[in-house]
Amino acid sequence: MKRLLAFLLLPLFAAAQPTHAPHPGGIAIVPLGVSEQAPDARFDGKPVLVTRAGDEWLAIVGIPLDQATGTANLVVGDQRLSFTVVPHSYREQHLTVAPKFVNPDPSAQERIADEQREIAAAMTHYRRSPVTLRALQPPIPGARSDSFGSRRFFNKEPHSPHRGMDIKGSTGTEIKAPLAGTVLLTGDFYFTGNAVFLDHGQGLVTLYAHLDSIGVEIGDRLNTGAVLGTVGATGRVTGAHLHFATYLNGTAVDPALLLEPSP
Ligand SMILES: [Zn+2]
Repeated sequence: MKRLLAFLLLPLFAAAQPTHAPHPGGIAIVPLGVSEQAPDARFDGKPVLVTRAGDEWLAIVGIPLDQATGTANLVVGDQRLSFTVVPHSYREQHLTVAPKFVNPDPSAQERIADEQREIAAAMTHYRRSPVTLRALQPPIPGARSDSFGSRRFFNKEPHSPHRGMDIKGSTGTEIKAPLAGTVLLTGDFYFTGNAVFLDHGQGLVTLYAHLDSIGVEIGDRLNTGAVLGTVGATGRVTGAHLHFATYLNGTAVDPALLLEPSP
């Protein structure tokens, strides 16, 4: 009977966890063993999310899109733990947008530079707090793109890769917090349009971009499922959708690895 129960529970448990996918833009889940206190783990000098799973601790490491494949090192206390970063191929994506989003004029460039500093600070934000990590609930129910990491061309010009997941949704659809968190930053930014950043603790940050309306303020604490705004088409878009991005240890990782699987 016990064995049967374990068998029945296993798929549920498996579905509720982030996915180990140690490629550039992916996530490495590195076991850290058993100890009373959470070990301090760092990747590339940055603190990494450490969460408990049963008796042991796990490091949930975000792997940058430009990380070299092969051996990578996690520094845990005074030890080094290696893991292997495996290759992954990303596609190309060609999009047509208003010219101002490809060649912004000088005043826009100034605005963009200011915003990038603010956005970078949000993406790399780290707050020490216990995190019980489980798979994220979808922020809206629509179809999910698999374009994370795609090499992008806007109006035929090469740009940086797509660092999020686009989810289909029509203007006005409510966006719900996929996990409890605190509102870290909101604003109307040049490229992301109306955007909300949520801080879930230990460097897990999520972004919701191109919103029609923002329904929260900096410092608001949201429970899982709380509405933070509505889907729109603000910023650099080709139509209404939600750009959903997830960051771990300051790097964008494929949201598909953190989300509950599509129904
Ligand atoms: Zn996007």
